[in-house]
Amino acid sequence: MTGGSGAARDAIASPAGEGPLLRSWSLWAPDPDESRSMPATAKRTQPTPAGSANRRGAAGATPFHGPRSSTSEVVPVLRAIGRAIRAMELPAIEKLQEDNAATPFRTLVSTMLSAQTRDPVTYEASMRLFARADSPAALATLPAKTIERLIYPVSFYRNKARHLKETARDILDRFGGVTPTTMEELLTLKGVGRKTANLVLIVAHESPDNICVDTHVHRIANRLGWVRTRTPEQTERALYEVAPRRWWKDVNLYLVTWGQQVCRPVYPRCGACVVAGACPRIGVTREGRV
Ligand code: SF4
Repeated sequence: MTGGSGAARDAIASPAGEGPLLRSWSLWAPDPDESRSMPATAKRTQPTPAGSANRRGAAGATPFHGPRSSTSEVVPVLRAIGRAIRAMELPAIEKLQEDNAATPFRTLVSTMLSAQTRDPVTYEASMRLFARADSPAALATLPAKTIERLIYPVSFYRNKARHLKETARDILDRFGGVTPTTMEELLTLKGVGRKTANLVLIVAHESPDNICVDTHVHRIANRLGWVRTRTPEQTERALYEVAPRRWWKDVNLYLVTWGQQVCRPVYPRCGACVVAGACPRIGVTREGRV
């Protein structure tokens, strides 16, 4: 795959404007396959400057689920990461969008496939499936075994095949074949949690009102000291407070790309990181080679 330069990347330099906050705080059911707790090594009480000997983390940190940074600290970091990822590979969902291979239904399907699956696997599985069925009507009539075969080797492919078939049927029966456009409706679909719903709203429906938090966003926001949270759901809540609204839709694209290429789960490449000077590296115990 090659890196892209289309709409998703253009948004890096041109974040959307301000607007009304539209959110239902009662819809915080985590994704069954997506929600992960923050490792114990990522807990500490006080952020410290980059390079500090105290950056390794502190035992017995007080639980804290709110934002830790001000928006004035977050925006320059997002801006720098946005510039740095322009030459990098897009995540699978944005790549499908950029390759004109996406419709709202396709984006929903690919996002469901992507949970705990590497991007190249998600992309190839999506394209195999879409070659056979890329509408709710076509997918609902496909045998589950056929879906399994087409999406293998994505993780949990048997469960995902069942969820995809049920979701396609649900969209036909309850939404007239149209992929839902609200968090409330999306969360009623089998196998769809907040991460999937947020990404569909951002990527497929161009919503500026959502932040999509996956394990990359959760990990990096904690390492940077923007939040101190245990779960992606807590991180999402905290990020709405600490990130200006015009950046919300970009947070996932930026931090997922950064998390895949630089701020990796293990051995982050801090020596090659453009925001190292602003990062307290909370919970980072070992750094990778540049
Ligand atoms: S790579 Fe290192 S310096 Fe950069 S954001 Fe991640 S933890 Fe911070």
